[in-house]
Amino acid sequence: MSRWDDLSAGAHQMLSDFDELDLADIAASSTAAVQRARALHRPVEHRGRTICVECSQWADGSTDNPPTEHPCATIKVLDDQETS
Ligand SMILES: [Zn+2]
Repeated sequence: MSRWDDLSAGAHQMLSDFDELDLADIAASSTAAVQRARALHRPVEHRGRTICVECSQWADGSTDNPPTEHPCATIKVLDDQETS
């Protein structure tokens, strides 16, 4: 645990520059990153199963990787983060 007084002058400056606008920017860009990840790891019907486009490397009805069930590990992590 570090107290405010224990921090360096540089740390004080950095924290005072870190205003609400920056926090809003960070929140917005992190939401955008999650949306990009979700767009990549989207579900697709493949031979009667729902698989992840990105993890299975699905394109034009075939996969380069073994078909990975959707929701894949990446989507599960994103879901866990949003519900916790
Ligand atoms: Zn995936």
